[in-house]
Amino acid sequence: LDPVLAIVGRPNVGKSTLVNRILGRREAVVEDTPGVTRDRVMYSATWNGRGFTLVDTGGWEHDARGIHARVADQAEIAVDMADAVLLVVDATVGATATDEAIVQMLRKKKKPVILVANKVDDIQNEADASTLWGLGFGQPWPVSALHGRGTGDMLDQALEVL
Ligand code: GDP
Ligand code: MG
Repeated sequence: LDPVLAIVGRPNVGKSTLVNRILGRREAVVEDTPGVTRDRVMYSATWNGRGFTLVDTGGWEHDARGIHARVADQAEIAVDMADAVLLVVDATVGATATDEAIVQMLRKKKKPVILVANKVDDIQNEADASTLWGLGFGQPWPVSALHGRGTGDMLDQALEVL
């Protein structure tokens, strides 16, 4: 059975764009409107000759406890089935309350977490990524899922802990 890599993060940070980048094809639905990905979608992927299963997450209807808790719940289901986690944050925005809700959930799990600082489209944006050290998951990996910048190095690291 292939190891499972879950991609979690609040809506609109670029999770589905990253899935498509990893797959090398446009299969995950990317929308400018947040919240289009269904709760969990699984894909078969390969990197450096190794097979693994990618789980994309999304789906964020409000419930009684509000949006942050709902996003974290959905992320938790994906994390529980995963061997390692890509936590995607929008480096141009920085950590928000929803990111913090996911971080709190991840801290309780004993799973390896790769912190992905997405939307670092240019070298000038790399400073944005360094603010994410404060999340406590070690080095933020600056990537541009849209352009492919840095995604190879980040995936090499993810496969090492998977
Ligand atoms: P998700 O909700 O986390 O799955 O986010 P999506 O993958 O649907 O992307 C949300 C929006 O962010 C879309 O408009 C994407 O084109 C955009 N986006 C994703 N990755 C990047 C990136 O690396 N750089 C920039 N500039 N935009 C991105
Ligand atoms: Mg999505």
